[in-house]
Amino acid sequence: MTAGTRRADFVVVGAGFAGLAAAARLFAAGSSLVVVEARTRLGGRVETVHHEGYALDLGGSWIGTDHVRARTLVRELGLDTWPCHSDGATIVRDDGSRLDDRRYSILHPLATIDYRLASRRLDRMAQRVSPMAPWTADGASELDGRSLEDWLRRATRTERSRTTLRRTAANIFSSEPSEISLLHALFYIRSSGGLGPMLATTGGAQELLVRGGAEQLAAGMARGLEGSLELGAPVRRIVHGTSGVRVEADALTVEAAAAVVAVPPGTAERIEFEPELPADRSEVLRRMSPGDAVRMADVYDKAFWRDEGLTGEAWGPKLPFSFTHDVSSPGGAPGVLATFFVGERARPIRELSPERRREVALAALVDCFGDRAARPRAHVERDWGSDEWTRGGYCSSMTPGLWSRYGSALRDPVGRLTWAGTETATEHAGYMEGALQSGERAASEALALV
Ligand SMILES: Cc1cc2nc3c(=O)[nH]c(=O)nc-3n(C[C@H](O)[C@H](O)[C@H](O)COP(=O)(O)OP(=O)(O)OC[C@H]3O[C@@H](n4cnc5c(N)ncnc54)[C@H](O)[C@@H]3O)c2cc1C
Repeated sequence: MTAGTRRADFVVVGAGFAGLAAAARLFAAGSSLVVVEARTRLGGRVETVHHEGYALDLGGSWIGTDHVRARTLVRELGLDTWPCHSDGATIVRDDGSRLDDRRYSILHPLATIDYRLASRRLDRMAQRVSPMAPWTADGASELDGRSLEDWLRRATRTERSRTTLRRTAANIFSSEPSEISLLHALFYIRSSGGLGPMLATTGGAQELLVRGGAEQLAAGMARGLEGSLELGAPVRRIVHGTSGVRVEADALTVEAAAAVVAVPPGTAERIEFEPELPADRSEVLRRMSPGDAVRMADVYDKAFWRDEGLTGEAWGPKLPFSFTHDVSSPGGAPGVLATFFVGERARPIRELSPERRREVALAALVDCFGDRAARPRAHVERDWGSDEWTRGGYCSSMTPGLWSRYGSALRDPVGRLTWAGTETATEHAGYMEGALQSGERAASEALALV
């Protein structure tokens, strides 16, 4: 990090995918810029660590079928991808039994029908919500006044389907359905083209993995910007006025004509703004549900579960984790299982000691995949909820009442400040794709301001 004062046309706060997409667009428009990032690395909620030469993603990793910007970026950077493994049966650990998903649907036909009907209804309702302006939907304030949980309780007839939908929702939002508004759920589903694509591997949001890890996309976006990057520089204060902005990090000040602020709501709230942000903007930042996520990766010599015809996916009400996924390379050697603890599942695991956390996670994997899961070659973890620069899960969500009362404040520029971040996206909000879209939009707004 440079000490002292730098001047540029624009300053970008945060070097996650949103900030970097904004920076790339501003740079392409011929502007000078400085990107100020708290961490000493790029990528934010996308992080790849390396073990024995093998790249392990601990944050964002999958690129979906419709994630056009992310796919284009992969192509332009000359990176390789592979389709995420999804052949076989998924393990459902339920009420003391270990089932595969084919038997699960046979065993619980009523619950399955109930689950499908409720999901379809949610999808149909989402079609009526504009991702650009959810607060304009018919009956918006009523939809926004209820939590998703409240809707789930009424829309399902069996406890089994309710529990399943609740867990599915938590896995998608990284917040519990009781924490988010129904209108927000509909917005989020609409912005990603429906529940089906959000949950699917092939043809859906979990389609591709990047060989060498998704963090390479961040490095790729930063090519050519090396002189503009200020890493290890947490922004503490932003002074803004009609003619420009001053961004103050610990030892560095950047003066510019306008700023793109591309940090998660929970960390933006901790930045001091001078003058203070309008009340509606502050309320949004303060009241969004940050979600929660702990992600683990376990590396084995091979993806042994594939020999038994399993996808490597597992979930169930009786498991300590939320779900697992096979993220091994196509050949399956080494085999890598990603284990997620999201929403209310994150806190209990976080509170354990590292040794106990590993024990609990591995015991649950053994429960699902057998004894061979007990001894991974490597076990790594990432706790996003207690990370100072994330403080949440995949994405923050609007709690009941926020969209209809303060909706437009999520994105509306304030003077010379524009807002990016996956939370502000209108396409694929919550995903890397949403972050890219939001960065492009915020950069265009910033260019129009000066
Ligand atoms: C466990 C997990 C799994 C996920 N899986 C997927 C997936 O498979 N596919 C997918 O598409 N998406 C996934 N996501 C979501 C995806 O990673 C995010 O949507 C996306 O990376 C968000 O990008 P962003 O730029 O909006 O925010 P961030 O990545 O959070 O970037 C914000 C940046 O701002 C910095 N910052 C914060 N405060 C300050 C400050 N005061 N001063 C300076 N800098 C600051 C942060 O350090 C960070 O670098 C996942 C996320 C998690 C956590």
